[in-house]
Amino acid sequence: MIDRAEDILKHTFGYTHFRGSQKSVIETALAGQDALVLMPTGGGKSLCYQIPGLVRDGMAIVVSPLIALMQDQVAALQQLGIRAAYLNSTLSREEAGATLRAIHDHELDVLYIAPERLLQDATLDRLCSVPVSLIAIDEAHCVSQWGHDFRADYLGLNVLRYAFPGVPRLALTATADERSREEIMMRLDLCEPKVFVSSFDRPNIRYIVKEKGEAKSQLLSFLQDYKQQAGIVYCMSRSRVDGIAAWLSQRGYKALPYHAGLPGEERQENQRRFLREEGIVMVATIAFGMGIDKPDVRFVAHLDLPKSIEAYYQETGRAGRDGQPSVAWMVYGLQDVVRIGKMVQDSNADEQFKRMERGKIDSLLAWCEATTCRRRALLRYFGEADAEVCGNCDVCLNPPKTWNATEAAQKLLSNIYRTGQRFGSGHVIDVLRGKETAKVKQFGHHSLSTYGIGADVSDQQWRSVIRQLIVQGYLLVNEQLYGAIQLTEKARALLRGDVSLFLRQDSAAAKPARAKRTPVAVSHGDEALWEALKACRKSLADELGVPPFHVFHDATLM
Ligand code: ADP
Ligand code: MG
Ligand code: ZN
Repeated sequence: MIDRAEDILKHTFGYTHFRGSQKSVIETALAGQDALVLMPTGGGKSLCYQIPGLVRDGMAIVVSPLIALMQDQVAALQQLGIRAAYLNSTLSREEAGATLRAIHDHELDVLYIAPERLLQDATLDRLCSVPVSLIAIDEAHCVSQWGHDFRADYLGLNVLRYAFPGVPRLALTATADERSREEIMMRLDLCEPKVFVSSFDRPNIRYIVKEKGEAKSQLLSFLQDYKQQAGIVYCMSRSRVDGIAAWLSQRGYKALPYHAGLPGEERQENQRRFLREEGIVMVATIAFGMGIDKPDVRFVAHLDLPKSIEAYYQETGRAGRDGQPSVAWMVYGLQDVVRIGKMVQDSNADEQFKRMERGKIDSLLAWCEATTCRRRALLRYFGEADAEVCGNCDVCLNPPKTWNATEAAQKLLSNIYRTGQRFGSGHVIDVLRGKETAKVKQFGHHSLSTYGIGADVSDQQWRSVIRQLIVQGYLLVNEQLYGAIQLTEKARALLRGDVSLFLRQDSAAAKPARAKRTPVAVSHGDEALWEALKACRKSLADELGVPPFHVFHDATLM
């Protein structure tokens, strides 16, 4: 049967070789056994079920939560001459009826279906009445209540074991930590599954993260080393994509825009050129990438922070598929943290979901501020505990120095408190550095005791301190208050002088002068300060009609 599988790989899909564990997974399914497949995004999970589904008799059922993608996936299979269809809530009654008839008449090779649809009695009855070759449960981590994409309907999928006895089930996911693994097998009630784990390591990709300054000129100097090379530049918004693409074109790069706001033909044409021509720089939103499998993408640049490590890994994973040295380069700054936090805050999702989203941002931030090997940190995040330092990322190549930032942090925290915890980092730093801006005057902040006490530290280093204090849970960004920086409970110990703090010294930043001791405007151990602080946050909250703060880390104030 594996000969038949190789035949389909070559003649139907047009590929020469199986990748990674594909062949073993397919053999397992062909032998009628259950399996759990952990493979990074882009690793090739689809073939693991599509091919055995075609080799075995009957129709393959593919359960997927990604309704928006079903149509594309089905269209792609139909292009290859495979009889595929889907059932989900986007179909009209008539369309769904036609698909159900096709199932009844044994006219389908592959059926994509949303879990809630599959679990309807009428649908299950219909599916049980026809021969089924295998069942694939894609994005299987959705069954995990502790994961980031929990879908209640996935919990019901354990009935498939009894509804389709003897039909092999494959659970597939790109989420690989040990706990989700166990949970998936248990909740889906897989029958003595074989487990296939692929490493997430992409050793030929060099990870580089820099502080965002003039993002455009930073990009330009990065691109100096990549003339005539293919790459992707990810930006957060359509207008930014258009702007950057035009700007790069003026500077002699073959840059093309790609985002969902462009007319379909233009998007397709740009994608086609990216795939076929040499040296195209695709400037894109995250709309670009699905199903892109260009081997020689030499760089993926992020001008804006993605919203999670998973997203970052997926996007950067499009670099270097051919195994040749490639770069994942990103600039990020506080404005990104505020922007993403606000996006989460403004979404219609429920609180629990928002909390998880914030947790994901925190993880990514912590990764950006890493002081040890980035690749190892990334792999550990995906559950590969024994990863080694790589010697190839920016941190390995240029280990950051640290400095004792205890006193600077105290000045900062105290200044944030004195200015009422209502301002973003820009104003907070202006007051610290003693800049007489209009805003400083407007709020009378030049008369504060913290005015000018941080003049010995550069703007850039202050921004770095703020970012690191956010990552370490001393500060939080309140997006309900336009990204105001606020203190957390944890800040108390630091203000009191109970802890010392060593922070990374950004290599580009000027070394903070070994300053004369400026008196810090905090009385250590001052409970009154904390009482006042609580009161201040409370009244702020009342004023805004919102909870006083959200849990950014697990530090809460009250
Ligand atoms: P995943 O679901 O794991 O994210 P996909 O199944 O969508 O990944 O596959 C990612 C890309 O890799 C697709 O473009 C697919 O055509 C390609 N691919 C998968 N297997 C192979 C293979 N054996 N040879 C060449 N390309 C492959
Ligand atoms: Mg997939
Ligand atoms: Zn490293």
